[in-house]
Amino acid sequence: MQTIGIIGGMSWYSTAEYYRVINAEVQRRLGGHHSARIVLSSLDFQEVRDLQEREDWAGAGELLSDAAVRLEAAGADFVLIGTNLMHKVADAVEASIGVPLLHIGDAVGAAATSKGCRTLGLVGTRWVMSEPFYADRLARHGVATTVPAPEDREMIDRVIWDELTQGIVTDTSRQAYARVLASLARAGAEAVVLACTEIELLIKPGDSPLPLIDSMHVHALRAAELALGAPLTARPQA
Ligand code: GLU
Repeated sequence: MQTIGIIGGMSWYSTAEYYRVINAEVQRRLGGHHSARIVLSSLDFQEVRDLQEREDWAGAGELLSDAAVRLEAAGADFVLIGTNLMHKVADAVEASIGVPLLHIGDAVGAAATSKGCRTLGLVGTRWVMSEPFYADRLARHGVATTVPAPEDREMIDRVIWDELTQGIVTDTSRQAYARVLASLARAGAEAVVLACTEIELLIKPGDSPLPLIDSMHVHALRAAELALGAPLTARPQA
């Protein structure tokens, strides 16, 4: 079994879910007392958040690259970044290590195509919804994206930072998100990617009129598959 390197702590609420899903999948596949081989570099999220707020992406790239280098030195056979947003610096992280980086956009893109979806509604932090880095990665899989209206994007982003990444889950925000998911269905999306690793704490399949692709879940499952010998290019199961 290969060792998975996780750059986590962004936030720790979703990193705990990565740890749970990866281990559950390895145990499901191998049985008995099997669990995943994992090395984790869990960052202080406030440090990351300060860099984001200053839009110091070069500094953020250095911070995450440093974590990736330490994971490789600790025996990781491949590395993943446990957040969508910080894939903004994926190229810098990938260039800093000699082992592969398992990109979250590839896990999401493969999950979408395996469901036959060509147009995904995209919800996540404001950079993920507004900048091309995430949509472009999905486009490589032949998947187009549609995003919420500007005022809805603002609400989605605010709930992520003021609530979900601080472990706060409320019915009010669940209802507000559900309303946005319905608007994405009307705009022609065939499914929605929850492109922030904490949204699955708030939104469950029953809250959405559209099928959901949870980025944390498909990324974690893909990591477990890869650790158990699936090739890097194989499509993950959703
Ligand atoms: N976990 C969130 C994401 O998946 C946002 C937090 C962050 O990356 O800093 O995008």
